[in-house]
Amino acid sequence: MKYQNTLQFAQQQDKEDKLSYLRNRFHIPKDKKGNNWLYFTGNSLGLQPKATKEYIQQELDDWANYGVEGHFEAKNPWMPYHEFLTGNMAKIVGAKPIEVVVMNTLTTNLHLLMVSFYRPTKTKYKIVIESDAFPSDRYAVQSQLKFHGFSEEDVIEWKPRKGEELLNIDDLETIVSEQGDEIALLLIGGVNYYTGQYLNLKRIAEIGHSKDCVVGIDLAHGAGNISPELHNSGVDFAAWCTYKYLNSGPGSLGGLFVHEKHAHNKDLPRFAGWWNHNKETRFNMRQPFDVMAGAEGWQLSNPPILSMAAIKASLDMFDEVGMEALRKKSEKLTGYFEFLINQIDSDDIKIITPSNPKERGCQLSIQVKNANKSLHKKLTENNIITDWREPDVIRCAPVPMYNSFEDVYRMVSILKGLL
Ligand SMILES: *Cc1c(COP(=O)(O)O)cnc(C)c1O
Repeated sequence: MKYQNTLQFAQQQDKEDKLSYLRNRFHIPKDKKGNNWLYFTGNSLGLQPKATKEYIQQELDDWANYGVEGHFEAKNPWMPYHEFLTGNMAKIVGAKPIEVVVMNTLTTNLHLLMVSFYRPTKTKYKIVIESDAFPSDRYAVQSQLKFHGFSEEDVIEWKPRKGEELLNIDDLETIVSEQGDEIALLLIGGVNYYTGQYLNLKRIAEIGHSKDCVVGIDLAHGAGNISPELHNSGVDFAAWCTYKYLNSGPGSLGGLFVHEKHAHNKDLPRFAGWWNHNKETRFNMRQPFDVMAGAEGWQLSNPPILSMAAIKASLDMFDEVGMEALRKKSEKLTGYFEFLINQIDSDDIKIITPSNPKERGCQLSIQVKNANKSLHKKLTENNIITDWREPDVIRCAPVPMYNSFEDVYRMVSILKGLL
């Protein structure tokens, strides 16, 4: 792709973009004077689809009209409501429907998955994470270690090499080949929240399984961003949230994947509630627990319908467009963003995200010299919404659903002026 550093070029790309109509289906936040923000934080909280209100309103109306009967009488009956999300969610992450369910929130789901998939023994108990794992994931694995009588020190960190920002998968291979007999679990962020690096999940699964370690993936920054092909990757489990790239609203429910190879293993230890009990006999009440097959077998409670309605609004849109078209635009849009930033002649900033489109999603992480936070502040004052991540990175995510080539062009022109 030959890019040009002009507004005309950016506008021409928008004109030729078959997905540009989608931007109009979102609420774009504005400043007090009514100017659109340049919103680059879909990696943190995706924008609100205009349709979301109707989807939630439908459930409020059905609740008003039917009360408890809405479980069966609502337009979208609440009893099986989560099932309406499964097919579309499975497509987004490249899974089979039996492997996916929407439930709870991300960190909760990681814990529930570790109940089943972190089964340490006296000699094989350590957990591998990336050195720059998201804090919640780190706290989760540390607390699991302590819960099982081990120590926080039993976390093994997969670190970038000295002087480098990114992870090298050969180093994971070395860790596992040298220490694999002591490692019970690899829990890795599929797309790193800080650097935006997208790791090869299939290779991670092969490395982990070569020493009988369980492999779990946090896809918080992957779902709706890259196409992780979870089923084919062979990882044992994964979890993600839906309020980032999946535009489902603050604190909305998360997604969970358990590979088909575990779907019918009723002996896997797990926590139970009525919602992972066989749905045919769930309401017979005095039944011994009979776990459901597949990812649904990790649910506990009947889920919040209003949150699911917001997720449905978003997933219906993803289904209409398809990840393939989104990814195609995303590569082009982020490529343009990278091209423009690289044209700025300044050593105050450096992109640390991989330049290979196969090793990243839409996010670019811009490292700022001397951790100068004022640059982020100035961007915000100019209506450019990005986020600052300690110690020294501004994360910017042009999202193919609603960001335009013009957004990217305008953002970088202002950035250049500030530098
Ligand atoms: C966003 C994010 C979380 C947030 O967890 P919640 O339980 O949804 O609050 C956790 N881990 C990663 C890697 C994230 O990016």
